[in-house]
Amino acid sequence: MKRTLSIIKPDGVAKDVIGEVIKRIESNQLKIIAMKMLQMTKTQAEGFYAVHKERPFFDSLTDFMASGPIVVMVIEGKNVIDKYRELMGATNFEEAAEGTIRKDFATDIEKNVVHGSDSPETAAFEIAYFFNTFEIASR
Ligand code: ADP
Ligand code: MG
Repeated sequence: MKRTLSIIKPDGVAKDVIGEVIKRIESNQLKIIAMKMLQMTKTQAEGFYAVHKERPFFDSLTDFMASGPIVVMVIEGKNVIDKYRELMGATNFEEAAEGTIRKDFATDIEKNVVHGSDSPETAAFEIAYFFNTFEIASR
């Protein structure tokens, strides 16, 4: 699998860093092959983050993810899953490396600007959660 799902979360959209995130993707040899803006319902957010349903932060996280518009993208490229997670930085912005998206723009462990799939299996599930095959370009 050389595709991953990226989300610019509600805080990232509110902070007007959509362009910044896209610039970092495009300037690192990764290609956007699908993209749209939408707002999830609470139920859709719960379905997306179902793997985390036992976590103490699940209710707050899914409220947050449904709180405003998000930008969802499919990104393609060599080693894209690891490469995009490297561009994002650690979950906790305080532990994120210099120059990463979360280090530069996040201010909260929950509201951390971006999401990226963490394995080929989750990428397949997450891409199909938002896009059908006709919405994904081949470039
Ligand atoms: P990542 O997004 O880096 O893959 P996880 O999959 O572990 O991180 O968690 C999913 C999302 O849940 C995180 O991006 C963050 O928004 C939120 N989250 C993770 N850990 C915490 C926490 N300890 N407290 C609050 N929110 C958290
Ligand atoms: Mg994760």
